[in-house]
Parts: sequence; C-alpha cells; structure tokens
Amino acid sequence: MIIKDITAHTVRTDYKGPWQHDKRFYVKTGEQANTIIVVRTDSDIIGIGEATHSPGLYGETPGSTVGALELVKPYIIGKPALNRNLILNIVDRVMPLGNLAFICALDQALLDIAGKAYGLPVVDLLGGRAHDSLPTHINPPTNENFMPCLEKFLDEGYRVFKIKMSGDTAYDLDLISSALKAVDETVTLSLDANQGWNVPQTLAIAARIEADPNYRDNVILEQPVHANDFEGMAEIRKGTKLKLMADDCIRTVGDLWRLIKLQAADIVSIKISRCGGIRKCQQMVAMAEAANMLYIIDEINEMSISNTAVAHLALSTKSPLYTGVTCHLLLKDDIVLEGGVKVENGKAIVSNEPGLGIKRVDLQESGILEL
Ligand SMILES: [Mg+2]
Repeated sequence: MIIKDITAHTVRTDYKGPWQHDKRFYVKTGEQANTIIVVRTDSDIIGIGEATHSPGLYGETPGSTVGALELVKPYIIGKPALNRNLILNIVDRVMPLGNLAFICALDQALLDIAGKAYGLPVVDLLGGRAHDSLPTHINPPTNENFMPCLEKFLDEGYRVFKIKMSGDTAYDLDLISSALKAVDETVTLSLDANQGWNVPQTLAIAARIEADPNYRDNVILEQPVHANDFEGMAEIRKGTKLKLMADDCIRTVGDLWRLIKLQAADIVSIKISRCGGIRKCQQMVAMAEAANMLYIIDEINEMSISNTAVAHLALSTKSPLYTGVTCHLLLKDDIVLEGGVKVENGKAIVSNEPGLGIKRVDLQESGILEL
C-alpha cells in the first residue's frame, strides 16, 4: 500500500462561553485553529491526524503546519504507507527539530492507516490495553464560573482538575482555597502557572497551600517557572512537599533527559502534540519509567481527532497517573461526527474499531470526510 496524496485542512472553532477570556497567565484567544492531515493511499484506506496549535506557547500555527507538509511531501509520496518507521525516519531527516505539531498529525494518520489495514485499534498497535479506562483531568475556567463548573464536573465523576493560575497571587490563593474546601482526598488539583512565577514566589505560594487546613497531599504544582529554568525547578522540588510537574519545558527527549539528570520534577507531562507524536512519546514514557519518574499523558488544545490519539497512547502505557483528553469538550463544535474518544464518569475510553475508530469528520470548508 503506497501513499498517494497528503492534504491539510484547517478547521476553526471557538471555546464555549465560560472558557472565553478566563484569567490564565498567558493570553489564550477564544478561537482554536487546528489542521487536519488526510493521508490517501492507493487502496481505499484513508488515514487522518490532527496538528494541534498553541501559538503562544510553542509557536506553531496552521500556516507553519501547511508549510511543513509542503516541505516533506515530495519525500514521502510513493512510500509504503504501512512502514511508519521508514516514513517518520525520513521526516526526522528533512526536519530534525521543528514542526512537532505536524509530525504528530502525520504519525496519527499512519497509525490510523495501519490499524485499518490490520483490523486493530491503535492501542493494540501500541502493544495492547494496559487499562480499560483512565481518569482524565478537565479544567474549570479561571473566572467567576470556576466554582459552579468545578461542582458540576465533580457531579459528573471527574476527579482530576487542571486549574490555570492567573498571575494575581491573592486571587489564585483564594481560588485554590475554595477548591480545597470543595474536594476530598480522592481529587487531584494541578495548579498550572504556565511559567508565570519565579522560584521564591513559587515557594511562598507552595507554603501557603501547605498551610491550608484542607490541604491533603493532593496538589500538584505544574510548570511554575520559565521553561528554560530547569535548575529553578530542581530548587523548588527541594523546597516544598507539593508534587512538582514539568510541562511546557518538555519538547524533546533531550529535554526529558535533562530533567531526569537534574531530578527537577516529580512528574512529567508527556504530550503528543507538543513532542512530535506517539513514536516520540513512547520513547519518553520508557525514559520516565526507567528513571522512576511519574508521568501523565496529556493534551494541549486538541480537538477530538488528536485527543483520540492521546487516549489510545495513554491506555497503552503502564502507569500514567492520569490522562488529559477533555479540551475538545470545551469547544463549541466537535469536528468528529462519529467515533473517537469518549469520556464517561470522568474516565477516558476508546472503542475496538480499527485505527483511531473515527468514521466521519467535518472538515468545514473541505466538507464532510467519510472514513
Ligand atoms: Mg500545563
């Protein structure tokens, strides 16, 4: 089976009302624009993948993804579609450092094709299900809707929450205190500062949280300091009981190697859209497990194609603390019209349909794609 053509289709949607204009530390616009990569073969099998963009954090946009496809396309048209290693090795030679969102989308599409060819879900191509389901986090908005949303999510069965920090310490401490009061020890709160604090500020905030009467060892500090500051992370880890998670600073296996060497976090967040796809993330999971570092399999700004791929990877890994596959639920429209990841009672599940298990996709300007 040969790759005949690859096309890119950018789709756009807005976040639902309560998530618009929240007070998170970095600016996030109300619109999400991701690019769907469609790989056609000389058989009737079509593979899809999604390049997820977070321009403010990682610099990639629909324009850069379309450009990456044009760059690599001449080298992979005509290559065997089932030889994912060969194709991804070619991509690594053409663009060894950049375009991780695009590479992630291509990787998903190749796995989707292989799953359909072999009659297996992607999770089975990755070695099989280590879990039938996994808890997923969800993020209530950092604004006046925070507590009503948190309570609604608790009622729906969610037990892990990502809480975006605003940069206003008094406001954030108040929010954290209200959340701690509303939950019990079965609930995890990940406080995501997205690089917004410095080391002394982080240690001061951590001390205030540890002193909260409702603190129960269920709080994670996520990427408090700048992504370049691995030494600062190591210092914070020594200065607080709160678990420290490295997130924005991990783009490559080299970054994770540095984190492990410096013992600069308790937990690493592994994200296919930020790290160049499932193949790279499997290397990272192996590194984290070998180093006894905790990990989660996480999302950035995915719609439901890419979040389906996140879920397949997460369910194949040995011991993730939890996963993150809910950001598409915060968008007004779902581009997947049939199939894909489901969240039930706060847990992520995928079907046994071949490939990603996605049947129909709304490509907006390019129309409905039947798979
Ligand atoms: Mg984060």
